[in-house]
Amino acid sequence: MATHEPIPPGATVGILGGGQLGRMIALAAARLGYRCHIFCPEADSPAAQVSAAMTVADYEDREALRRFAADVDVVTLEFENVPLVAVETLTATVPVRPGARALEVAQDRIVEKDFLRSIDVPTTDYRQAENANDVAAAALELGTPCVLKTTRFGYDGKGQVRIDDADAAEAAWAEMGGQIGIVEAFVDFDCEISVLVARGPDGQVVSYCPVENRHANHILDTTIAPANISDAVAVQAIDLATRTAEALDYVGLLAVEMFVTRDGAVLVNEIAPRPHNSGHWTIDACLTSQFEQAVRAACALPLGSADRVADAEMKNLLGDDAARWPELLADPGAHLHLYGKAEARPGRKMGHVTWLKGNPD
Ligand code: AMP
Repeated sequence: MATHEPIPPGATVGILGGGQLGRMIALAAARLGYRCHIFCPEADSPAAQVSAAMTVADYEDREALRRFAADVDVVTLEFENVPLVAVETLTATVPVRPGARALEVAQDRIVEKDFLRSIDVPTTDYRQAENANDVAAAALELGTPCVLKTTRFGYDGKGQVRIDDADAAEAAWAEMGGQIGIVEAFVDFDCEISVLVARGPDGQVVSYCPVENRHANHILDTTIAPANISDAVAVQAIDLATRTAEALDYVGLLAVEMFVTRDGAVLVNEIAPRPHNSGHWTIDACLTSQFEQAVRAACALPLGSADRVADAEMKNLLGDDAARWPELLADPGAHLHLYGKAEARPGRKMGHVTWLKGNPD
């Protein structure tokens, strides 16, 4: 169903996925007067805790999907690995924003990189690998070090093995679990950045400033807004993200993760068709948060301004870090966000904290 008619406040926004991103989308939607209905397989999800309705069902449960579609006016998502069949089932009744094409591209690293190259968005060199011999050949062609990744369902560095020597290809293939893989040339980067863009059904695009992302153990640790990069690199990064959103005819909030190489080139690493951990700072430091933009785009409302009211630093609270809440609350400059997760497993994203760092330039 293609419509650019606004879906007015009071309507119901369906959200696929129940994690913290869904929770923050739901909070932003509630502020604009929408009800939210969460669809996810887990009971007691962070998103359902703050929403008007929930469906706990498998993403392939067509009957549950149809009932969900009947209750909502538009669907958005916080999780890109939703099976395409779910999106196709819902699209018969209700707009799904972002839609199947963006998910298809984001779900498979080979499809994603082929797509990016097809629109002249630079990426690192890569080869597909279906067995250990392919990995060895790719390592010889691309050189070492290189990185073997699963093409599907990898996140936060899971399903990734660094190869330092072509002789290690067999072991890397076994370690990665023998699934179809992608071998990527290793990028000797100066920094990792991301650009978030919002795009409405009418083609309006709004971009946030590029931010720098620092990882620890492959998980995002800190985001610094804005990234300390030259104006030329920033302009290029925003252009790449905007072109990617336009080429996908994207509707919603798109996150584009990039490497800035030591010689100032910008390479796209991956895209996420949803609000992103590196945009949490926008809640406290921008005129419109990334979550509100996702809601505005899905509901065909005018997008808000992405201007910063302050520079900012965001730090994730993983596992037991969240137990620091009394100390963080005592810090008058700390904006604390907790996700309502009962169990603090090591590495689990339990919350985040943002500090404002003075006025933007
Ligand atoms: P990804 O799951 O692709 O986001 O990768 C997780 C992290 O691994 C990235 O944020 C980088 O720090 C690192 N990484 C991934 N791919 C490469 C690469 N081709 N070269 C160097 N570092 C990489």
